[in-house]
Amino acid sequence: MKACLLVRPAPVETQPLQYTEAPVPEPGSGEVLVRVLCCGVCRTDLHVVEGELTPKKSPVIPGHQIVGVIERSRSGASRFPVGSRVGVAWLHKTDGICSYCRSGAENLCDHPEFTGYTVNGGYAEYVVAPEQFLYAIPENFSDQQAAPLLCAGIIGFRALRLSGIQSGGKLGFYGFGAAAHVAIQVARHWGVDVYAATRDARHQRLALDLGAKWTGGTLAEPPVQLDAGIVFAPAGEIVPAALKVLRKGGTLVLGGIHMSPIPSFDYDLLYQERVVRSVANNTRQDGEDFLKVAAEIPIETRVQLFPLQEANRALNALKNDAIPGAAVLQIAS
Ligand SMILES: [Zn+2]
Ligand SMILES: [Zn+2]
Repeated sequence: MKACLLVRPAPVETQPLQYTEAPVPEPGSGEVLVRVLCCGVCRTDLHVVEGELTPKKSPVIPGHQIVGVIERSRSGASRFPVGSRVGVAWLHKTDGICSYCRSGAENLCDHPEFTGYTVNGGYAEYVVAPEQFLYAIPENFSDQQAAPLLCAGIIGFRALRLSGIQSGGKLGFYGFGAAAHVAIQVARHWGVDVYAATRDARHQRLALDLGAKWTGGTLAEPPVQLDAGIVFAPAGEIVPAALKVLRKGGTLVLGGIHMSPIPSFDYDLLYQERVVRSVANNTRQDGEDFLKVAAEIPIETRVQLFPLQEANRALNALKNDAIPGAAVLQIAS
């Protein structure tokens, strides 16, 4: 099969992904072989490719927002018939037995496997995955539209939940990439006003287009105090700036898997029961709940398509804020 292999992490400008031939993977017990139709490009892929996340497997095929069709099942896999359209997301597998898994927090599992990081992902024509971790893709989404829902969408949804925002509330977004452009549609659906701080003019326009009340530069102060905030951009200097406009008791959610160092700040910014918390991965329940809401709204993702062999170019565009919405690799039709 054709695949994009990462042999050694390096700046994406040096084209670290090699478009090459790789063996079609063999599904193990309880696993299915998925023929990949398309795969969304996530900022986490950029962190994997550039080595900000410690390499766990080498070489590795990145990609964890996979829409595909089940080609073949191994024994023990009968949840979806062959030919079903399914989604493969970041959480490849958990151990199912640690204290986190047993208490409904499988996103924090002690022994997790992650698609496109600890196991091969979807920048390829085929991928294997345990069928218990697959998602059914709601029918009203095209393959390309659905791909960014599988990480950008689900993680944004978990971040929204953790922010505690309620209908009628005022919510700040810091950075306005793929996750934010989906999350704003859920927030608007819940009757939440969104204030979007982001450096790129195209992203500001997209935010206004999707119903943001206000947009400004990354460190610009919104005109109102906010009930909650979500930091999507991986820039630690946003944290004190965002706390400055957060009301007493408000929550600031850090949505990324990686962030540059957070500068020290005055305790006054945190005092009065303000909460800063991160989001780590998601549970399958988050994914199921989100896809249901996404189909009801319905969410409209803005996607820019790239062929598989141009994955380096797609990541480079993402790094330079040049994608309004989400980048998606088109792999088959
Ligand atoms: Zn576990
Ligand atoms: Zn992701």
